[in-house]
Amino acid sequence: MRPNKAGYFGIFGGKFVPETLMNALSELEKAYCKLKTNKDFHSELNFYLNYYVGRPTPLYKAKRLSAEINGPVIYLKREDLAHTGAHKINNTIGQVLLAIKMGKTRIIAETGAGQHGVATATVCALFNLKCHIYMGDEDIKRQKLNVSRMKLLGAEIIPVHSGSKTLKDATNEAIRDWVTNVKNTYYVLGSVVGPHPYPMMVRDFQTIIGNETKKQIMELEGKLPDYLVACVGGGSNSLGLFYPFEKTKVKFIGIEAAGYGIKSYKHAASLITGEVGILHGSKSYLLQDKNGQVLNAHSIAPGLDYPGVGPEHSYYKKTKRAEYDAVTDKEALEGFKLLARTEGILPALEPSHALYYLKKKAGRFKKKDIIVMCLSGRGDKDVEAVSEALGIK
Ligand SMILES: *Cc1c(COP(=O)(O)O)cnc(C)c1O
Repeated sequence: MRPNKAGYFGIFGGKFVPETLMNALSELEKAYCKLKTNKDFHSELNFYLNYYVGRPTPLYKAKRLSAEINGPVIYLKREDLAHTGAHKINNTIGQVLLAIKMGKTRIIAETGAGQHGVATATVCALFNLKCHIYMGDEDIKRQKLNVSRMKLLGAEIIPVHSGSKTLKDATNEAIRDWVTNVKNTYYVLGSVVGPHPYPMMVRDFQTIIGNETKKQIMELEGKLPDYLVACVGGGSNSLGLFYPFEKTKVKFIGIEAAGYGIKSYKHAASLITGEVGILHGSKSYLLQDKNGQVLNAHSIAPGLDYPGVGPEHSYYKKTKRAEYDAVTDKEALEGFKLLARTEGILPALEPSHALYYLKKKAGRFKKKDIIVMCLSGRGDKDVEAVSEALGIK
């Protein structure tokens, strides 16, 4: 849906930021709304999406996967084949082009696993912009490959030593930087979270996923799918897929990370178990304790390891437009193996959660149901972690 003027989807969203950022957010919203309907901006964006990112990504019918789980017809939207290996670049290209039009000369971003950081560093190299990436100390240690990738692309990494030294803290620091340097600096947020207009804007840039899917499935099947399935971290690949189908009868299923199990309190299932609260400038479901302290999330998939979720998902949950389920670390590893062995594709650990869901719930679907699942990224980044977890030497 379109958020209201103040940036709310129902009761969720808004702009909970220091006074100094209110102006910056209005400036951003104005610039974005103007460009949103600008033909030249879209043809420039589409040029890079087509010739640089490699879009449209294929919609691939995974026959052996369907047969293996004795399930419905499954199509995979192959965001793993986009440049840099995931859907994140759809958003970073859009936002960085916007930053250039706004006359900003410095780009900052937060990153957890480093996927958004890599996508941002990539686009900054492409457009010759200064790029500073905030990353928690703990994540820097865990994600060496992506740290090297960002450095090779010319980005500077700013280590964050506060709190749990992970994504939540990196985001706090990035917001702080933006408050101080708002004149020349553009903050590229990595998912449909944060204060308005980010959730709307990031979603819009990611709807390329759903728009392509709609066209492709009509060509392949002559009708819309019955279900759309995607993993939910902040919620951008899922909303990008879902949003163009919002006004249809297509059912949406979002899969969160259940970590060590929902009852373990070590998970990232903010929609399923969270309470309404405020984090990083917007109101949404969050993992928090009785006193409203935000809890640390856990998932084997670094891209899902976030205690919050985009406000539009909270709205979808509340209005029941989408349903949500969660899959554990262990199950996600099974999902990873399943796709590797049946289709010869190593998926990222994030969409491996959605893959396992299809296996676990294969029985709820009819054989002729058509499901499109967003394969949000490739698994190269996770090969080491998965090998270790599965005891492969
Ligand atoms: C970052 C990431 C996610 C989670 O982010 P969303 O905003 O929920 O899409 C999922 N899959 C991959 C491959 C990622 O890199």
